[in-house]
Amino acid sequence: MDDPRRQTVKEVARALVDRLTFYQEMGVDCWKRTPLSVVASSSLLPTPVSKSPIPISSHPTSSLNAPSALAAIRVELGDCRRCKLCDGRTNIVFGVGDPNAALMFVGEAPGEDEDRQGLPFVGRAGQLLTRMIAAMGRSRETVYITNIVKCRPPNNRNPQPDEIAACSPFLYQQIRAIRPKVICALGTFSARTLLGAQAPISGLRGRFHPLPQFPDTIRVMPTYHPAYLLRSPGEKKKVWDDLQKIMTELNLPPSAAE
Ligand code: URA
Repeated sequence: MDDPRRQTVKEVARALVDRLTFYQEMGVDCWKRTPLSVVASSSLLPTPVSKSPIPISSHPTSSLNAPSALAAIRVELGDCRRCKLCDGRTNIVFGVGDPNAALMFVGEAPGEDEDRQGLPFVGRAGQLLTRMIAAMGRSRETVYITNIVKCRPPNNRNPQPDEIAACSPFLYQQIRAIRPKVICALGTFSARTLLGAQAPISGLRGRFHPLPQFPDTIRVMPTYHPAYLLRSPGEKKKVWDDLQKIMTELNLPPSAAE
């Protein structure tokens, strides 16, 4: 029998190798030095800086079913201090919904209400999103809703490249766990990030694009962000057209809503 302490050291070493392999496979090839004081109060590993686009390959959670994989990804995220958004947040907003959803909505970043409640899309824009989902004959519980970054940017500014680099590996792991058929990218920022595109949302919306990391199995439908629809209600018809294309793609029965 091995000495139990040696056994523990072996397990820790294996976990570290797993985690380093995971980051390496995600394309993280550069590490920021983290002061020991920060290491002591947060993660045992330095903050990864990823390059883009982020490839998705095997991960320690890949053998788990979707609910367990999501739970493991949430544990991995922990009390995240990988970017500066941690300083201003109240809650990490990980995501909600069905871990086996065929349809995933990806917004930009939590706002004030989401930060307070720890849930995505619960403010005014979120209530409109909930109505849009209901118009598709679905409910929030039957889809999965998350954001590109999981912490609220100060004054709701756009997330910055280093923040996306730190956070997006978790989004891609969520996508890999859920394996939706369709991702509805809400707004310019989400669409550009997911597609690695520079075009404005008006040029991207209205048609399916392959998700670069899963080009054969996951299709992305960019559409206008519900917050934009609150300011420009005249654009709702275009969003409804986009949602109907998603319904057709997912074989959802046509809805009477207009
Ligand atoms: N806007 C977003 O992009 N995400 C939210 O969760 C709320 C508002």
